[in-house]
Amino acid sequence: RAKELGKARSVAFDPAMRGTTVTPLDVETDLRRALERHEMVLNYQPIVSLSDGRIRGFEALARWHHAERGDIPPSEFIPLAEETGMIVELGQWVLRNACAQMVEWNRDFTDQGPFEISVNLSGRQFTQLDLVRMVTNSLEGTGLQANCLKLEITESALMENAQRSAQMLRHLKELDIKVCVDDFGTGYSSLSYLHTFPIDTLKIDKSFVQDMGRNRHNLEIVRTIALLAQNLRLDVIAEGVETPEQLAQLRAIGCGYAQGFLFSRPLTTENVRRLLAENRVW
Ligand code: C2E
Ligand code: MG
Ligand code: MG
Ligand code: MG
Repeated sequence: RAKELGKARSVAFDPAMRGTTVTPLDVETDLRRALERHEMVLNYQPIVSLSDGRIRGFEALARWHHAERGDIPPSEFIPLAEETGMIVELGQWVLRNACAQMVEWNRDFTDQGPFEISVNLSGRQFTQLDLVRMVTNSLEGTGLQANCLKLEITESALMENAQRSAQMLRHLKELDIKVCVDDFGTGYSSLSYLHTFPIDTLKIDKSFVQDMGRNRHNLEIVRTIALLAQNLRLDVIAEGVETPEQLAQLRAIGCGYAQGFLFSRPLTTENVRRLLAENRVW
């Protein structure tokens, strides 16, 4: 079974699990316990508006501090959660927590907000029939204003079944929330479909952003996506911004928003409070 789960995915489990069998049930139990034991936490990475250098919102990113195995990155546990079906419960927990957190920050830092909170949805969550109800429950349960919530769905997940995606997006948009296409540029979107999707934001994949300085083609790709967004009246976020040179290029291109280690790594809630108290402008 370990082999079936794939090499990359079994890495984090390997040292402790060597000689034992990784069954889907183990992973499921582990993930369930992680939520119960508060091993799972959310970090928040600021998204900065390049027009005024202020924080527009945050992306919630799940972190698993496993009691025995140490930190397990989302690139490993999200696919496992998807395989076991635990993604539904995990996703619900993420959404609910992120919304509640944003209500708190929007209340305590009214002078800077209201901020948006971006929450990632995996492909499997996006096809979940009761996704709309789950989102409604999270908004109603926490009191977060719908237009402060943005759901991120990768371009590949969106294009897997374009027709069904369009329908799901329409239902979500009826709630008045926002939608962002994540990792844009890596998923073979049909441009003829793109304008039929009710989306608000394109997030340029970090692979293009990080290579802009060295690779002229990638600079042109970033420029083209920014232009496309502008023509479709969408916001555009560059992810993975690490250097002042990249920031300068993005400003020159006219990219509206940026996110990356240059501004801030994903932060614990305490550190976000500290950052907001500083009222930082980039
Ligand atoms: P993503 O949604 O594309 O998130 C951006 C990733 O880029 C994050 O990795 C973030 O830490 C990283 N990042 C941000 N700025 C920089 C930078 O300047 N340089 C570099 N090298 N990396 C940067 P992370 O947190 O490891 O998450 C990886 C992926 O796991 C996410 O990609 C997302 O697809 C998934 N993920 C994370 N949390 C959740 C969650 O709560 N639910 C779901 N469904 N997926 C999640
Ligand atoms: Mg994302
Ligand atoms: Mg991304
Ligand atoms: Mg990604």
